[in-house]
Amino acid sequence: MSLAGNLEKVERRIADACARSGRNPDEVQLVAVTKGHPPEAIREAVDLGLTLFGENKLQEAKVKISRCPGRLRWHMIGHLQSNKVRDAVHFFEMIQSVDSLSLAEEINRWADRGAKTMPILLEVNVAGESSKFGYRPDRLLAELAQINALPKIEIHGLMTIAPWTPEPEKVRPVFRRLRELKAECDAILGAPLPHLSMGMSGDLEVAVEEGATMVRIGSALFGPRQKIVTER
Ligand SMILES: *Cc1c(COP(=O)(O)O)cnc(C)c1O
Repeated sequence: MSLAGNLEKVERRIADACARSGRNPDEVQLVAVTKGHPPEAIREAVDLGLTLFGENKLQEAKVKISRCPGRLRWHMIGHLQSNKVRDAVHFFEMIQSVDSLSLAEEINRWADRGAKTMPILLEVNVAGESSKFGYRPDRLLAELAQINALPKIEIHGLMTIAPWTPEPEKVRPVFRRLRELKAECDAILGAPLPHLSMGMSGDLEVAVEEGATMVRIGSALFGPRQKIVTER
């Protein structure tokens, strides 16, 4: 299957889920997840009109971003170690995977040095899986005000990765919980956060029905991932 065909299918799936839930497809941004795929695949995606890309490893992303057209938008969607924050702040438009106050503080520090503000999403481990990164919901609510007080950080919303399942309907409660959690954050902050980043290749319909404003799609667009060799 070609990328063009895959993109059409993904856009159809998003549109159908929007129709079922009375939403406007313009409310759902497609983040094309390019980890495990070379710059050529990204250029092909750009030719098809995609502009927003997600990477989950800093080393791989750095090499790739520098080889891609400069006008593209990149989101960091993978776990970020504090010693890589400097580069992440430099290379990415948004960091979707912030899961601690100390990480947010480090991002704030480097954003300040770079004379910029950094949009972030707070990653939540809704299902409490020990294999996954992300805030526990109670911890998130406890630290939210402190993160919001960091001057160079802009909280744009919440992100989650649902447990893998062959039956997407089973993870609906995870997406619903993230939406409810955003409402709790909105109340604490006194203003609505714009984004819920949830839904991947296998479960995007359910995520969109539950209110996703960003879906992060890799394999349904680009096929199986390869191992990308990075210089360092
Ligand atoms: C890889 C990845 C995705 C995309 O996964 P697919 O199942 O290939 O669509 C989405 N989000 C994160 C955080 C990822 O690491």
